[in-house]
Amino acid sequence: MKAPIFIRGLTLLATTLVLAGCGSLIPGGNGGAAPGAANRSAATEARPATRIASAPQSYAASSMDRGCLADLGATGARFQPLPDTYAAPGCNKLGTVQLSALAGDRSTFGVSNLGPLRCGTAKAFSDWARFGVDRAARQILGSPIARIETMGSYACRNVAGTERRSAHARAEAIDVSGFVLEDGRRIMLKRDWDGGDAMTREFLRVVHKSACKRFGTVLGPKYNAAHEDHFHLEGTGAKFCR
Ligand SMILES: [Zn+2]
Repeated sequence: MKAPIFIRGLTLLATTLVLAGCGSLIPGGNGGAAPGAANRSAATEARPATRIASAPQSYAASSMDRGCLADLGATGARFQPLPDTYAAPGCNKLGTVQLSALAGDRSTFGVSNLGPLRCGTAKAFSDWARFGVDRAARQILGSPIARIETMGSYACRNVAGTERRSAHARAEAIDVSGFVLEDGRRIMLKRDWDGGDAMTREFLRVVHKSACKRFGTVLGPKYNAAHEDHFHLEGTGAKFCR
């Protein structure tokens, strides 16, 4: 009668060890205890020679703000969180995401040429895209947005003519160069800020103004010649709107 119980005990122990082994390999992502964690100490006591309890565990430090990710997700944006990286002094990508799509009130639309973006800036961008850009496009131009065109986000460089790192060096700025509407029209800052028809010019001034409400520093064609072809949108920084 004792043998079957003993065998069942061994089977249970083996199962426990397998579970404990898997648990130690699961990277700490959910914040909670890994499956089998409760069994790990029992398994270790039963087999002191195993190194399960002291197996190396690499929990990479991350600057990711989980509250921000949740807020960004709630905007309807599609995105992928990215790992932290440090490229050079003052240049880093901490707590960034890769945006792949944005949500309007009635449709989802694309964003082109965009690299890593710090989550807070991505959230401001997502809100602006929906409430500032897509709604303005429908109200002023009679068509929803199909794509926002950018000249990128992250770049390890200084503010032109200074020794100061640009917000682009921290993935906290986006350069928006144009908009494509669902009806096929393409609006380009360089061509249309001054040269577009009256409604297009009005649309560009409205989205510029609404960007100033949602971002820190906003620079456009009004600021200088270097910005004649894009809006520079900074998630942080002083409130400065030109
Ligand atoms: Zn810029």
